[in-house]
Amino acid sequence: MKIILLGAPGAGKGVYASRLKKTYGIPHISTGDLLRKAIRDKTETGLNAKTYMDNGEFVPDEIIIDLLKERLEQEDAQNGMLLDGFPRTIEQAKILDEIIKISAVLKFDTKQEVVLRRLGGRLICKGCGEIFNSHKLPPKQEGICDHCEEELYQRSDDTEETITKRFKTYEDQINPLEEHYKNKDILYSIDSNTDLICPECTVLNECKKILDTISKI
Ligand code: AMP
Repeated sequence: MKIILLGAPGAGKGVYASRLKKTYGIPHISTGDLLRKAIRDKTETGLNAKTYMDNGEFVPDEIIIDLLKERLEQEDAQNGMLLDGFPRTIEQAKILDEIIKISAVLKFDTKQEVVLRRLGGRLICKGCGEIFNSHKLPPKQEGICDHCEEELYQRSDDTEETITKRFKTYEDQINPLEEHYKNKDILYSIDSNTDLICPECTVLNECKKILDTISKI
């Protein structure tokens, strides 16, 4: 199953992907994570990408596409993946069509005020990448990951100004992308304004219902 997760920053793509990857045994491939790793590893790609990311702007296509192609060639991505953060534009969607055949696109719909609230408190594990929220999904021990006990950090682009800019960029690009996948009859929209992970998580259940149906086709 080759799945795209579409949604504004803070829509919950990363949180749901971390649950869905375990259920379906396919990797979560986030282009933002690939870029952040390149920055941590101080590669040329990372150095080139950092300024764009800190300003809430898109990294040029040639950088991101090379990085993604390399990741998609790895062994664990041969049976499918949950693709998060790509495509961001209709041009990227058309390039992706030439690389892989997408099974379904899950689009998480979230209002701007919800996004601002969520990202203001977002904490990410330096070790395993698990996502927490200081208000709604706090770790058991402050600043420490429940799963691997590594330190949690806040992303440098999770400031109100940058979040607002990233949200606007998303809104500007989403219509043609939505149309592209609607025309292929593989677009599924999900209301993601509710709390991210809760015992009766309707969003996660809805994702699973869609993916279970697709996996039988
Ligand atoms: P994310 O982790 O998905 O919120 O992405 C963080 C940042 O990485 C974005 O604000 C962009 O600067 C960059 N980025 C991630 N994916 C892409 C992409 N598909 N195209 C261009 N820039 C990207």
